[in-house]
Amino acid sequence: MPGHQIWNSDVETRNMTPTTTLEPALLALIHGKLRLFYDLTEQATRAPKQVEFARHREQQYRQKLESMTQQLQELRRKAKDKQIELGSRETQVKKMQLQQDGAANNREYALLGDAVKAIIAANDVMGVELFELLEQVDAEVLREKQATEVLAKAVVETNSTFEQTAETVQRLEREIKVVDGELRDLFAKIPGDLHAELQRKRPALREKTVAPVDDGACSSCWQIITPQMRSALTLKQLFLCPGCGALLFMPPS
Ligand SMILES: [Zn+2]
Repeated sequence: MPGHQIWNSDVETRNMTPTTTLEPALLALIHGKLRLFYDLTEQATRAPKQVEFARHREQQYRQKLESMTQQLQELRRKAKDKQIELGSRETQVKKMQLQQDGAANNREYALLGDAVKAIIAANDVMGVELFELLEQVDAEVLREKQATEVLAKAVVETNSTFEQTAETVQRLEREIKVVDGELRDLFAKIPGDLHAELQRKRPALREKTVAPVDDGACSSCWQIITPQMRSALTLKQLFLCPGCGALLFMPPS
């Protein structure tokens, strides 16, 4: 049996406190409270991450909206420039038409007429371009409106997540305090030296500081329990796992 090798007198002396016994039911209770304590602690650590997540998503929506607004401004500027240019070209056409009316001869009349026709044709093309730009502006205005609504929803959600999380953390902290007090009282029932040793090990072993034997092994490090260890545990003697140092107990049936 692999665990048998560690069962020597040294280990026996070091790990056993044969004169003291504790009810496995008490150790099982400590184990359960330790699990609860670390579970609540874990929840309290995890809860604020929900707020971080909501804030991050909100920030993404905000950036998206900002880039849309910029794009829209750019499109509007282009449309305005084109409108101004088209306006001045139309004024130019009118001016040339007046010149044409006062033309000195047929040749000048015909030349001005050709020039006016060319400008009008170019203006038509520009008019189509302007129309397309204004359509793009309309589409972007709609997209910007939608993005604004999405952001507003995200802001509301961030705030409610923040409030809920604050409540959750407060509740968890209250529960942790209660369980911590219960654990202090329970640990006080463990003899002094061993109590101190377990408190030292607790940050590393956490909920497994006091661990049940499971399927013939320490449920903290899975070291095999020898028949000698088993009989000591059955006699409710206090026994630290030689593998991980957890205070072992046989789970009450
Ligand atoms: Zn162990």
